[in-house]
Amino acid sequence: MAVDLFAGKRALVTGASRGIGRSTALALAEAGVDVALAARGADELRQVATEIAALGRKAFTIQCDVTDGAQVQQMVDSAREQLGGLDILVNNAGSAQSAKFLGHPDELWQRMLATNLTSVYYATKAAAPAMVAQQWGRIITIASVAGKVGSRYTAAYTASKHGVLGLMKAVALELATSGVTVNSVCPGYVDTPMTDAAVANIVARTGMSEADARANLASSSPQRRLVTPEEVARVVVCLAAEGSGGITGQAINVDGGSFMG
Ligand code: NDP
Repeated sequence: MAVDLFAGKRALVTGASRGIGRSTALALAEAGVDVALAARGADELRQVATEIAALGRKAFTIQCDVTDGAQVQQMVDSAREQLGGLDILVNNAGSAQSAKFLGHPDELWQRMLATNLTSVYYATKAAAPAMVAQQWGRIITIASVAGKVGSRYTAAYTASKHGVLGLMKAVALELATSGVTVNSVCPGYVDTPMTDAAVANIVARTGMSEADARANLASSSPQRRLVTPEEVARVVVCLAAEGSGGITGQAINVDGGSFMG
């Protein structure tokens, strides 16, 4: 008889309205998980909820700006209430904007850290106590290979992603005996609206064609292609499964082999 790795499991995915978050929410739902979907924009969230409902799973939408600690607490409380509990938290919401370091805007620094790092601190702090109390939980953060290596013009984004990997490792150790695992996934360039924006930025800055700009990003991978959001979602589903309780404190690259460490 097949083992059900997700029986009765309930997940909250931030940034679930498009890109990696949407694919992750759909992949979890396909695996049998009921899902709360969070982001700022309501319309895109509703579309994803409709797709999940078509798979026969429950889906709830929660509007939340993850940079606001009070809203994040409300998001987690609301997810728990609507789903009847919370077993899996996917910290995916994020933003990537670049600027030269000389003359770097302080506002951009604050915004990148608030969106990509402090948001994860808020959500993990809000979700962890009940997971510890039930002696089972999965906290999975979509970081980036930018959490492991530096690249030009991305000081704030790179710092936020290095920070979030450190946060997840420290929390993993504190929760190690509680039945709650804490891991990160580190994608390279993924074919999402975020990468579309990066391509548009390259086109505007360099005058390159869109196809060349996209090929340029893809060429940073030994596989010479962008990662798909579904490929990232598969790794999240694997980490979230019942049988993955021995994996904690890890940061798993999904980058076509561009960084091996
Ligand atoms: P997208 O830009 O395609 O989607 C971002 C999602 O996050 C949207 O649902 C957006 O919804 C939400 N979001 C953004 N800011 C906030 C906020 N302040 N509060 C709540 N929700 C927010 O991004 P991707 O899918 O590409 O990226 C997802 C994650 O993966 C990010 O953490 C990113 O850093 C990481 N990543 C992406 C890579 C890539 O190449 N695309 C590579 C490596 C890592 P809304 O705007 O409605 O709030």
